[in-house]
Amino acid sequence: MLREPLESGKITVSRAANQAEFPARFQLVAAMNPCPCGYLGESRCHCTADQVRRYRGKVSGPLMDRIDMLVEVPAVDKTLLRSRAQDASAETSEQVRHRVSRARQRQIARQGKANNVLEQKEIEVFCPLSDSDYQLVEKAITRLGLSARAYHRILKVARTIADLAASDDIRTSHLSEAIGYRRFESVGL
Ligand SMILES: [Zn+2]
Repeated sequence: MLREPLESGKITVSRAANQAEFPARFQLVAAMNPCPCGYLGESRCHCTADQVRRYRGKVSGPLMDRIDMLVEVPAVDKTLLRSRAQDASAETSEQVRHRVSRARQRQIARQGKANNVLEQKEIEVFCPLSDSDYQLVEKAITRLGLSARAYHRILKVARTIADLAASDDIRTSHLSEAIGYRRFESVGL
């Protein structure tokens, strides 16, 4: 029997008289098609709005609530792939790795742990917003019908975006970007 919420970072397995606890911290990365056929927006897609709604409804609300970033990945045509490969100004994987590593170091130096494992009280201390930004996020929560859990997750994502930009403060642009990853309608959801 398994009895732990998704975010606990551990799993308890009970069998007969024995009970064992195992570490189970993980990062979920998942992909799904925008519609049953996968070609939404193209002329070859004949999915009806109802079919699309039913298809997306297979992912439960509570699970969606725990997904911090929803990113649409449009089809890329082959010629664009080639021109990107030749684009010398594009950031390399090595450069991205350094940027991520520096952002993580900032988090450890500031609060002794990564942003994703901040507790609610710590979020209040390390992810402060300006008054107008608090209003911005509150409006978004109401408009998008999000939970208190989603609110704290948005702040942590905004803090991480600020860290990636080497910014001490969470600015409106960082917060807006974090909210943007929650806007399911931006990918037609
Ligand atoms: Zn389709």
